[in-house]
This record gives sequence, C-alpha cells and structure tokens, in this order.
Amino acid sequence: MRTTEIALIGAGPIGIEMAVALKSAGIDYLHLEAGNIGSTMQWWAPGTVFFSSSDRIEIASLPLQNEHQGKTSREEYLSYLRTVVLHYKLEIETFTRVTEISRQTDGSFILQCRRSNHGVGGPEELTCNHPVEDHKELLHELLEPIAAKKLVLAIGDMHLPRMLNIPGENLPHVSHYLGEPHQFFAKRVFIVGGKNSAIEAAIRLARTGAHVTLCYRGNELDSKRIKFWLYPEIMSLIRKQKISFYNNATPVHIESSSTTIRQIDPSTKETADLKIDTDFVLLLTGYTQNPEIYRQLGISLSGEGNKPDFNPQTMETNIPGVYVIGTGSAGTQTAGSTEFIETSHVHVERIMAHLQGKNPPVAKLNPVPEREI
Ligand SMILES: Cc1cc2nc3c(=O)[nH]c(=O)nc-3n(C[C@H](O)[C@H](O)[C@H](O)COP(=O)(O)OP(=O)(O)OC[C@H]3O[C@@H](n4cnc5c(N)ncnc54)[C@H](O)[C@@H]3O)c2cc1C
Repeated sequence: MRTTEIALIGAGPIGIEMAVALKSAGIDYLHLEAGNIGSTMQWWAPGTVFFSSSDRIEIASLPLQNEHQGKTSREEYLSYLRTVVLHYKLEIETFTRVTEISRQTDGSFILQCRRSNHGVGGPEELTCNHPVEDHKELLHELLEPIAAKKLVLAIGDMHLPRMLNIPGENLPHVSHYLGEPHQFFAKRVFIVGGKNSAIEAAIRLARTGAHVTLCYRGNELDSKRIKFWLYPEIMSLIRKQKISFYNNATPVHIESSSTTIRQIDPSTKETADLKIDTDFVLLLTGYTQNPEIYRQLGISLSGEGNKPDFNPQTMETNIPGVYVIGTGSAGTQTAGSTEFIETSHVHVERIMAHLQGKNPPVAKLNPVPEREI
C-alpha cells in the first residue's frame, strides 16, 4: 500500500493550480488523473475558444500569452497547461482513475485505482460507465491502493451528457459531442439545444458547409444564456435561412436517416409531429456530474444538482479532511453555471490557509465571473 498525506484527484486547471500550491508549501501529496492533464478541454471540439479573457484563466501565477491578443483557444490552453506542469516540475499520475474511496475508522482514506485510457468525461465515458459486472472486459488493471490522510477532490462537473432518453439516442450517427466540424461538410446535421454548446455548433457547422437544423424546446433563444458575441450571429443565420430553426420543439424519435420532432403551439397547446431528414444528430443539451465518489465518502449533497455541502471559508466538506475545489464543488450546474476556472482560484487559497492553520484569504466568498469581451 502506498501512503501520502494528501491525495489530490483531478488534473484540470484547478487541480494543477492546487498541486503547485501544495508543492510550493512542501506538503506531501499524490496527484491522480484518469486521463491526461486538462482532459476536459481535450474533448472540446478543435478550435473552441474560452469565453474568459486569458488573464482570468491563468493559473499558479504563470502568464498566459498568445500571438493574437484574443480569447484563448482549446489548443493554446492545453499547451499552456503542459507548460505549467513542466515549469513547476509537477508529478502527476495520469491515466489513473480513482474508482473507490473508503473511510477508515481513524478518519483516513483508502483509494482503489485502475489504469484507464481517458479522462472522466467526453465521448468515451459513456462506454465505460456501465455497471462493472456487465462490462468486465472494459476494466483496466487494478493498481496498488493508496492510503491518504486527506483528500482534495478537483474532479470537475462535466462527466456525462444529459441524456434525452428517446428511441434512437444510441444510434452511431448520434452524439452528445461536436468533435471535428469538418466531418459534417455538406451533410444534414440536426442539432438539439439552445445554449452555448448547441449555438456554437450550429454556427460553426453552418460555416463549415453543413445543412443545419436547430431544434430548441423554448419559444425563443435566450440572449442572456448565450455568449453575447454568438447571439447576433445565430439570429442572423436563422433570419437568412442559413440555419433551419424549430422552436417549441423536442425530438421524440431518431432513426438512421431521419429525426421526428414534436412541436407544440404555445397558445393552443396542440402538438404536431414532423419528420426531418438527417445524416447526423448532435444532442447538445448539457452535461452532468457523476457524484459517485462524493456518495462513497458520505459527503452531504444538496439540491437537484447534488451540490456537495462545504464550508465556504475552507472548502472542507462535512467529512473532515475532504475538500472540494473547482467546478466539481458546484455539482451539476443546472440553472446556468456558477463555478468556472476564474471563480475557483480562491478555492486553492482557502484550502492552503486551512491546511497551514492560517486565516481564510481576504477575498470575496463568491467571486463573480467577469464576462468581458
Ligand atoms: C466549450 C466550453 C467552454 C468553456 N469556457 C470556459 C471559460 O471560458 N472559462 C472558464 O472558466 N470555464 C470554461 N469552461 C468550463 C471549464 O471547462 C471548466 O471551468 C474547467 O474545466 C474547470 O476546471 P476544473 O479543474 O475544475 O475541472 P476539469 O477541468 O473538468 O478537471 C477535472 C479532472 O478530474 C478528472 N477526474 C474526475 N474524476 C476522477 C477520478 N475518479 N479519478 C481520477 N481523475 C478524475 C477528470 O478526468 C478531469 O481531468 C468551458 C467549458 C466548455 C465545455
């Protein structure tokens, strides 16, 4: 059995920022990550850009520069994360998935880990998330268990897609992830959703030369819930009929070359079904957190999104010695996201202060993300 003072789980930006703080303070820790570093950004479509300005997603005091002075792209940020890890000489045990954590009578923890071939989240997660007993062949080698006195959980919040549970959702031409836009050139793509992921995909695919249909359950797209530079563009593409738009509509059945939607007339409540020819279907209706590790530990969870309860000054949960940070501390972000990279830097400071017996940092308890241009 390996032993450590602190097991840090997750090497997204906030997990990496935490690792730098622990290393700099000379605290013994082991850092475990199911995929490679930044695995959440790894599954974003190529060329996706952050909405935050670059300085707000910098971590561990290392500047993030680019040659165009605009928003940072997925590729630039992955490269930046590699630089941070190299610069601070961080040791991260990548492709190591923590599958089970048990609490011992003395208050310490035993972690069971397996070798894995991807991060928690992204298209591969759907195939590995089946019950263990049904899919033994998908499991990887069991690694030596780890005994830890404390845990920092930086596990993120986009583990699984929000499923629609309609017939045909599992067909091979249906996905919950955009992926490489080029694959949709000159194809009929049916996109479901009305927030950033769906709107961004609709615009990018229309520009790529796909024939895009956008299906949204609301009456009209909500400018407050769409990146403000995307909203005028999507409205213009719809107006010019470069994107077909069905509002008050939900898909009810997907077949190999068509999708049936049910549209409701908001005034009469009458419904009508319509079959639309489609080559590909993208169900971009958001992602959920898998709270399994929180449940194993007995962390109390609140609300629809299973948000872990924690002390906002220390980030410690109701289980002594277990901390949650980053977007993982928000559970499934249901009514618009509340935690981002930019709101989470202070989480690291709070934990460090608590570990070192210092007063909590003088910072706003809930910093508001600045959505500047
Ligand atoms: C298209 C898009 C654009 C975005 N733009 C922005 C933006 O502009 N600004 C912003 O702040 N945020 C943005 N976000 C949100 C951003 O992805 C998150 O803010 C960021 O990833 C959170 O970092 P994190 O370290 O908390 O979690 P993550 O980056 O999600 O990292 C969590 C890590 O934990 C690992 N993990 C989970 N469970 C286990 C386990 N059991 N064992 C081992 N490892 C595990 C995962 O593999 C993952 O690598 C955007 C998201 C999307 C989808």
